[in-house]
Amino acid sequence: MSDLKYCQGTQCHTHMTQDRIKGSKGNKVYQTRRRSSFYYGNGNFCSMWCLNDWFNDFGNKAIDHFGRLTEPKKLTEQNAWRKDYDWGTSIDEPHRHYFLNTITKERRPLTEEQYNDDNYTLNIS
Ligand SMILES: [Zn+2]
Repeated sequence: MSDLKYCQGTQCHTHMTQDRIKGSKGNKVYQTRRRSSFYYGNGNFCSMWCLNDWFNDFGNKAIDHFGRLTEPKKLTEQNAWRKDYDWGTSIDEPHRHYFLNTITKERRPLTEEQYNDDNYTLNIS
């Protein structure tokens, strides 16, 4: 099967579990897990253990590469707008979409098209 992939954990092969053993007696090898899907780290790791191993080895490099925070990020009234909706109560009353300011709790109505348009934002300066 070609759609199997390997766990990206840098120490996966050193975690000695039965399912990692390949080969016969006298010729045993522990090897990196290979599966069609994994549940951790966006599908890249077989376990939190392997995700942590990877982060311990590469986390600092990754953060430096993509940008280390050097000051706090801030949620203000200006950037606290999120799209949300209320479930409709029946077929005759569809969902109500709106922008919600998570700080002030102000709501501004949206059409469903605007809600689904990832490029649609409020023009707030
Ligand atoms: Zn693993």
